[in-house]
Parts: sequence; C-alpha cells; structure tokens
Amino acid sequence: MGLFKPMNDPDFAPWNDPSATPLIKVEGVTKRYGGVVAIDNQSVDIYEREFFALLGPSGCGKTTMMRLLGGFEDISEGSISIAGQDMAGVPPNKRPVNMMFQSYALFPHMSVEQNIAFGLKREGLGQVEIRDRVSEMLRLVQLQKFASRKPDQLSGGQRQRVALARALAKAPKLLLLDEPLGALDKKLRQETQFELMDIQEKTGTTFVIVTHDQEEAMTVASRVAVMDEGRIAQIATPDVIYEAPNSRYVADFIGDVNLIEGHADGDAVAAKIGRFPSSMPKMKKGSECCLALRPEKLSIAKSKPTKATNAIKGKVLDIAYLGNITTYHVSVGDSILRAQVTNASRKARAGITWDEDVWLSWTNTAGVVLTA
Ligand code: ATP
Repeated sequence: MGLFKPMNDPDFAPWNDPSATPLIKVEGVTKRYGGVVAIDNQSVDIYEREFFALLGPSGCGKTTMMRLLGGFEDISEGSISIAGQDMAGVPPNKRPVNMMFQSYALFPHMSVEQNIAFGLKREGLGQVEIRDRVSEMLRLVQLQKFASRKPDQLSGGQRQRVALARALAKAPKLLLLDEPLGALDKKLRQETQFELMDIQEKTGTTFVIVTHDQEEAMTVASRVAVMDEGRIAQIATPDVIYEAPNSRYVADFIGDVNLIEGHADGDAVAAKIGRFPSSMPKMKKGSECCLALRPEKLSIAKSKPTKATNAIKGKVLDIAYLGNITTYHVSVGDSILRAQVTNASRKARAGITWDEDVWLSWTNTAGVVLTA
C-alpha cells in the first residue's frame, strides 16, 4: 500500500491556484434548527481529489455541514454547488455524492458482493457491468477472498472496507464519510487511515470526512477545516494548522500547546514570566497577544543554556513518561509550561527529576504569536 497522500505531492495544492475551479462551492451558508444556529454564514471551496476533513468538538456543526452537502438537510440561507450545479432542491439520490455512515449500514442478510452490488442494481445497470464493477471494488479494498461472506463473518476493519467499496461503487464525485473509523480500535484505525488514503488516491474521488479525532484529520487530510460553534476557524493543510494556527482556539484544539499571555513590546512578547523575542505580527505596542509554543519546541536542561535566545528557569512539577516521549510539567512563576522530549535511547534521560530546578529554552522562531 502506498503511504503517500496528495499533501505529500508538492504539486497538489489547487486551493493555491487562482485558475482552479472548486468541485464544491459553499457560499454564505447558514443552517438554523429553530433558534439554534448550527452553521453560521460559512463559505468554503473544496477541490477535486481533495481529502478534506471537518474537525471540531462535539456540537460545532461538522455533521450538519456534511448533511447539507449530502442534501439530507435544507439550507436556511446561502448556496451549495457541486460540479458547477446548484444543489438547491436536489435530493440526496440525485446528487453526485454518496455517504458512508459510521454504522456502515451493511445489509446483514446479503454477502459482501451483494452489498457492494446493491446500489448498482438499483441504478439499473446490466449484469456484466455490475459484475465487473463489483470485482473492481473488491480488488480495490482487497476483499476478493471474502466476496461471499456475510457481514457478521467479517472483522470490524473488513466491514469498514465493504462499506467503503459499496459507497464508491457508483463512482460518486464526492464521498462523505461520517467518523468512518469510529468503530475500530486504535491500532486498526491507524492502519485503516492509510488504506483510506490509498483508496482515495487510487480512485481520485473527493473525500470529505467528519471527525473529532485530530490525529486522524492530520493524517489523512489534504486540508483540515477546524470548526468552532458553527464557524470555520481555520482552513489549511495539516502542517500549517499545526505550525501556524491563526488563533488560540485552533492552537489549543490541535495538539498540545503552551499559551503564554502577554503584550506586544517591539520585537518581543512581554509576559509576566519574561520578555520573549519572537517574529511579531504587525500590531500596536502594548496590544494583547499570546506566544504559542509547542512542547516539543522547548528544550529542558539542568543548567542554563549558553546559546539559546529564550531561556527561563523553573521547577519540575510532574513527569509524564509515555515510552516514546516524556513530557515535563515545569512551573515558572505562576505558569506551568510543558516541554516534551523524545526518548531516542533506551537509557534513562539525563536524570531530570521531580522538584528539580531546570532551564527551559527555545529559539526566536519556535513559537507563533497569536492575536485572536
Ligand atoms: P458531534 O461531534 O457531537 O456529532 P457535530 O459537530 O457534528 O457534533 P452537529 O450535529 O452538526 O454537531 O450539531 C450542531 C448544532 O446543531 C448542535 O448545537 C446541535 O445540537 C444542533 N442540531 C443538530 N441537529 C439538530 C436538529 N435536528 N434539531 C435541532 N438542533 C440540531
């Protein structure tokens, strides 16, 4: 299985190409349920062959956005077009879209083959065409040997692949996946993420996935939309979302982060615990801002580093050993900062222990200064 996704192909970035036409155009869409605004005047362009992730906490509106794309809900305001066609009033079965539900919704009395063929039969395709398409799908998800089994004779991961094959059989332009790996355990989930990426690339179908699992979104997606209370807080490639979040909300939602509150002071963030030179956005002196530092960007040492531009002294409060990494919780003034160290060797680390005085240091470019 190839482990490469479009994101790894430096040429795949249609969102940066002003001449590229989006497959999906969401324009000024609002969805209200009575008094609840589930989607609040949002616009987004999604391109052909993208693996687009809608990510956010429970209730942020990601399922609603997906249901609007699929035509399972009506839009209150705004418009959605797919492949140049306005979707207003177009029912789900008339859209070039298919949806894979979290429960997979496989027919228990039908074999794998029959499950995959179901939608094709309903479309009225000829027998030969159906047979060819089903075997192509079985090959795609590597279930040729399981064609005549019933869903209850399959593992969770295999069932997931049947559902995927069934959803892709009609060759939709867009496949919507609602927490597609939610029913799998962590290890299988990670393996299946790569399979999903591989299948997405092979078929060239545009995937929009809903997930609340940030690791999953970061692994599979070409771009991630981080949602917050009915709005998209940021849309960007996973590396940009992680390294250049546009707000405290996004920085905090994705991965672990130290948020050091302060104010702009020339080329630095002036905080209670120190003045930290950083690459500053354009802002007035004295305006509030926050230095966001990922724990793995901090170095921890027993003695003061001689070269580092930013170094502060603290005391180790807690040590979380996770095998591959260790996270040190260090109190500095009335703040607690976290520094993460990769355990590259099996030997115990340089003996940093609880209650010990340590130095945390980082470079001027390690953090990002946030104003929102
Ligand atoms: P989860 O991860 O929990 O599924 P979500 O991000 O998918 O959450 P949505 O299901 O899109 O969130 O819901 C967004 C908001 O709209 C929530 O406040 C929810 O309570 C509300 N909502 C969703 N469906 C309905 C409905 N049919 N009637 C009323 N309110 C609804």
